[in-house]
Amino acid sequence: MIEQLWQEAQNKRKQRKNKIYDTDTEECYLCHADTIPVIRFSAYREMPFINAAFSTRFGGISQGALGELNLGFSRGDTVETVEKNYEIFCRAIHVNMDNLVLSDQIHDTKVSYVTKKDACNGILRKKLQGVDGIYTDQKGICLATSYADCVPLFFVDPVRRIIASSHSGWRGTVGKIGAKTVAAMERKFCSKREDLIAVIGPSICQECYEVSSDVIAAFENAYSEEQMAQISFCSDPERQKYQLDLWAANYLQLIEAGLFPQHIHVAGICTCCNDKLLFSHRASKGRRGNLNGFLCLT
Ligand SMILES: [Zn+2]
Repeated sequence: MIEQLWQEAQNKRKQRKNKIYDTDTEECYLCHADTIPVIRFSAYREMPFINAAFSTRFGGISQGALGELNLGFSRGDTVETVEKNYEIFCRAIHVNMDNLVLSDQIHDTKVSYVTKKDACNGILRKKLQGVDGIYTDQKGICLATSYADCVPLFFVDPVRRIIASSHSGWRGTVGKIGAKTVAAMERKFCSKREDLIAVIGPSICQECYEVSSDVIAAFENAYSEEQMAQISFCSDPERQKYQLDLWAANYLQLIEAGLFPQHIHVAGICTCCNDKLLFSHRASKGRRGNLNGFLCLT
């Protein structure tokens, strides 16, 4: 079942053409650890000091619209069920649950440096408040961020061994949380922008992401006219509706922040096109669980 859905997702990725970023390359692949499906990123495959993983809907114990692997506490599952799902997935990817660092992700752009003292120590509901981006230089602690259409941004500085995860929905993208994350890594650890390897993870694609003119107006304040032409188009002039490409917006933002184009990897997997494989807020009209990204220095 999941292999078939995965293949379909890959086929849809390959069909996306004429983009400023490459979606021809297979930037992520599906593994099975203890029979639990795990998405891994090709960009970090050759980095033995990195453990990066992304969950799917499969492998947990949640039921119905939250099935099976809901990793969100506010989606309607019991606490015990969500904790069990974390336990299952963390065991599969060899991450100690006590070492997870979670944040509340309020669609803002605050980026925080985190250490062992921010780890949840088994209390998964313990989340950093008011934070959408987290980064660390400490081995063993695991940056855990939640998604269901919003864009996951992962950063690795392989030279200084620094990692970061940022949650970039449309508000985060307008606020340029990706660029702020890069700046934070540079400020604290002198990370060089040309060293950073970024992944734009599974999230909603342009075809699925219709937005209103107020969202476009917010983007026009943050992006140039030339950039706007690359990230959105009006799909319905009468209703004033637009299709917005958050992957392109984040890609352009990271280029502007100084990353090399060949170091920005767009997964090209849409949560909404593939809502049987992944959780999508749009596709489910809000009745959905949470996916998580996990990033850890080992
Ligand atoms: Zn889509």
